[in-house]
Amino acid sequence: MSETLFDKILRKEIPAKIAYEDEHVLAFHDIAPQAPIHVLVIPKEKWTGFADLQTGDPIKLGLYMASIAKAAAHLGLDPNGYRIVFNQGRDGQQTVAYIHAHILGGRRLSWPPG
Ligand code: AMP
Repeated sequence: MSETLFDKILRKEIPAKIAYEDEHVLAFHDIAPQAPIHVLVIPKEKWTGFADLQTGDPIKLGLYMASIAKAAAHLGLDPNGYRIVFNQGRDGQQTVAYIHAHILGGRRLSWPPG
């Protein structure tokens, strides 16, 4: 598994604006926000992308999902809602090969996405 920018952010070798952290995830603000709140949530144990979850440990996966929800609540997004996005592979516009959930909120988002 090749090293990515997000491995370095997790190890705090590259600075990031931390939004939330617990034993399972690190959440940090996206450098190019697409909404008033745009946070990326990575698991501390790496998967390369969403496709890896087919064979991933379902307990770890569940803990990752729960921590994404905790990060969104911590950001104050529960009352009005938010969107979770996982980009997968080339057509999904995934640019970093370390699984990350985008939490987007703070405004009414349009649907369908582009
Ligand atoms: P994706 O296209 O789904 O792989 O998302 C990668 C995201 O990482 C993009 O939204 C980028 O804006 C974001 N990004 C790239 N470099 C950084 C960085 N140094 N700190 C925070 N977010 C970043």
